[in-house]
Amino acid sequence: MRRYSAFAIAREALRYHTGWERAWRSPEPKKRYRVIVIGAGGHGLATAYYLGKNYGIRDIAVLEKGWLGGGNTGRNTTIIRSNYLQDPSAAIYEKSRSLYETFSQDLNYNAMFSPRGVMMLAQTHHEIRGYQRTAHANVLQGVQTEFISPERVKEIVPIINIEGPRYPVLGALWQPRAGSARHDAIAWGYARACSAMGMDIIQKCEVTGVRSEGGTVTGVSTSKGEIDCDKLAIVVAGHSGQLAGMAGFRLPIESVALQALVSEPIKPCMDCVVMANTVHGYMSQSDKGEMVIGGGADGYNNYTQRGSFHHIEETVRALVETFPMISRLKMMRMWGGIVDMTGDRSPIISKTPLGNTFINCGWGTGGFKSIPGSGWAMAELVAKGEPGPLAAEFGLDRFKEGRFIDESVAAGVAH
Ligand SMILES: Cc1cc2nc3c(=O)[nH]c(=O)nc-3n(C[C@H](O)[C@H](O)[C@H](O)COP(=O)(O)OP(=O)(O)OC[C@H]3O[C@@H](n4cnc5c(N)ncnc54)[C@H](O)[C@@H]3O)c2cc1C
Repeated sequence: MRRYSAFAIAREALRYHTGWERAWRSPEPKKRYRVIVIGAGGHGLATAYYLGKNYGIRDIAVLEKGWLGGGNTGRNTTIIRSNYLQDPSAAIYEKSRSLYETFSQDLNYNAMFSPRGVMMLAQTHHEIRGYQRTAHANVLQGVQTEFISPERVKEIVPIINIEGPRYPVLGALWQPRAGSARHDAIAWGYARACSAMGMDIIQKCEVTGVRSEGGTVTGVSTSKGEIDCDKLAIVVAGHSGQLAGMAGFRLPIESVALQALVSEPIKPCMDCVVMANTVHGYMSQSDKGEMVIGGGADGYNNYTQRGSFHHIEETVRALVETFPMISRLKMMRMWGGIVDMTGDRSPIISKTPLGNTFINCGWGTGGFKSIPGSGWAMAELVAKGEPGPLAAEFGLDRFKEGRFIDESVAAGVAH
């Protein structure tokens, strides 16, 4: 793999950009791999990358039924933060956030990580208490976050109306080193690095069955034929229930569409991410100037990857109260992604009832921020067969044993 650098740009400029090589190879599948990862979203690619980087396992195929990064990884609103309430959550999200800080240098790929700060507005007294509790927990966890006053909120985000008629802003949980990154670049950066290590990323290759013998996985059936493997990692977000069904077990997961929309581009007006969980909407400004707006999930299970008018209305109506200036904006486009929700709104990184088969899912509405940390933890689980400290609490057995890691009450919304 040729490194990207200022020198490379100058060299290619001189020879009319004829020397750039493809970022990743597009090989045909081999008959057998040591590890097959199903799903070339951020989590699947990060799993493969850290298997190679941390454990030297490079005989890997990542199988993707569509195009890489075409699932939720390429459809999300890119909020990155780590100020979760529960200890296991704060540990994995903070690991992830710290890996994002050096992603561009580590992978020689510009991820446009922008630690511009994430603010979660407190608009009820219940939220003040909740966020103050989180701020205290974060101090103990070593996560840098603070509870700030309404005046400080207005100072950081001048376009906010802090005296909203129904829900005035009463304070906010503020994480200054949280922010966002370019979603496609995360998938592309990992894909390029995986391909450079000799791994095969096989797009348009849908897994249609999981084969096993004596309770241990032997391979998968795909739209490109049968492929054998020693170990299988299922990392397919909203399709986790389907893949688990193929492997012969059930998951405590519901799949629903989550929607987002963007406005026409405008001049810079807000340089951090703001989440308003009581009215349920969140907003940031992209580098192109569009206001990126996210709302809630559909109220019923479904697999539709598209937007709907009632969601635009609900989300924008909620946000207009806090950001009156957006009432003048034209909305340009909207879309949906299929998110995988667990009851406690925490992920699953786990062994499964099928031998040598591992699953990573349940990141729901908030798994973009966790891609590097999740890949790191999943790689350890796949390589060693047992979870390391980051994944230990996120096993499937917690649902049988009642050891929930409850982030649903803590965060209200888990982006
Ligand atoms: C609108 C929206 C906004 C969001 N906003 C945020 C946010 O601001 N911050 C945040 O942290 N998170 C956010 N999320 C959540 C985040 O996007 C996801 O949690 C995360 O991207 C999941 O990544 P993944 O790699 O697990 O899944 P995906 O990117 O969905 O990848 C899974 C891949 O598996 C493939 N696949 C499925 N079935 C098969 C099969 N049978 N064979 C082969 N391949 C298969 C799919 O095609 C897909 O490419 C948002 C999600 C949505 C939809």
